[in-house]
Amino acid sequence: MPSSFEIAVFDGDGIGPEITSPTLRILQQLSRDSSSYDLDFNRLPAGANLYASTGESLPEASLEGARKADAILLSAMGMPSIRKPDGTEISPQLDLRNELDLFAGVRPVRISPGQRTPLKLDGGQSVDFVLVRESTEGLFYSRGTGEVGPDEARETLLITRKTSEKLFRFAFDLARQRQAAGRGEGRVTCVDKANVFRSFAFFREIFDGEAKRYPELQSDHAYVDATALWMVEKPWIFDVMVTENMFGDILSDLGAGLMGGLGLAPSADIGDDHAVFQPCHGSAPDIVGQGVANPFAMILSAAMMLDWLGQRHDQAAMVSDGNRLRDAVYAVIADGQMTTRDLGGNSSTEEAAGAVMEKLEEG
Ligand code: ATP
Repeated sequence: MPSSFEIAVFDGDGIGPEITSPTLRILQQLSRDSSSYDLDFNRLPAGANLYASTGESLPEASLEGARKADAILLSAMGMPSIRKPDGTEISPQLDLRNELDLFAGVRPVRISPGQRTPLKLDGGQSVDFVLVRESTEGLFYSRGTGEVGPDEARETLLITRKTSEKLFRFAFDLARQRQAAGRGEGRVTCVDKANVFRSFAFFREIFDGEAKRYPELQSDHAYVDATALWMVEKPWIFDVMVTENMFGDILSDLGAGLMGGLGLAPSADIGDDHAVFQPCHGSAPDIVGQGVANPFAMILSAAMMLDWLGQRHDQAAMVSDGNRLRDAVYAVIADGQMTTRDLGGNSSTEEAAGAVMEKLEEG
């Protein structure tokens, strides 16, 4: 009897539905071909368009649906044209991070053969690192509650010992897993601004305390400004980086830039009991409805979901399908024939996703 997993799916706004539908088709095919697991999709409404028509961006029933699912797959939410009265965009994905306590934002940065990158990798250097971004505190903590007066505005940054300890343990565990899989040298870099802010000196001190629990791994520190420079100059030096929410938000887009754009940047936001998998990009309103959105970041996020579910439930077949799916995407990129406009090709969303399906079938 295959084990059954319920996946909460948020189609979202803009290009969201366009990239969700081929991704679900691929996942459905993988689960149909597997004798050990079944995926059951529960489509849930949320987002800016829902807010525009009902005044609610994340209904309680959708939140409950997400809470009871085994994993959550989300495309993109928010539309610049639809805003709350205070001028901010609708972002239920951020509400989900807080509601489900998804403290670890995992942003892999990997450049594979054939991939377009602004970097010159003529020395054969390999770029394969993971940025772990704290996702519930930091400067995002005061989201929606900042004080704005006629002449000044204030937002407060929060760093807690409890969340930081969990975050650092997550980062060290990840470095250990990567090392065991032959990726990375087992090193975690704490990215902060401890030379200027007391809150970051506190963050760093907690990091150093956790590092002592992992004597077999290496640990070091870097300031966030130097990190931005090194990510461009010598990104191959990094293995696992761990940082505060706002710094991570900015550095993860820089990482996406190194990978040739947002269309190839997957992500996961992981807590103790729940996890959301979604591409790093937004709803791309400028290309909505044209059928040209790149589905790869969403498909790679689905691969991360299979990894996470497989590891959590001891389902080797799911972990293996996650790897097969990732390899299939990178094989399509290496061929260079069936990519979307943002990657230099002229395939449609459906054609690019179809090419991934074909690679999977070829084995
Ligand atoms: P958010 O703030 O919600 O993350 P954003 O302001 O970063 O969104 P995006 O919606 O991610 O903006 O779009 C940024 C640019 O990248 C746009 O020009 C968009 O068309 C392009 N883009 C984003 N995602 C994709 C994709 N999957 N395929 C092709 N182009 C994309």
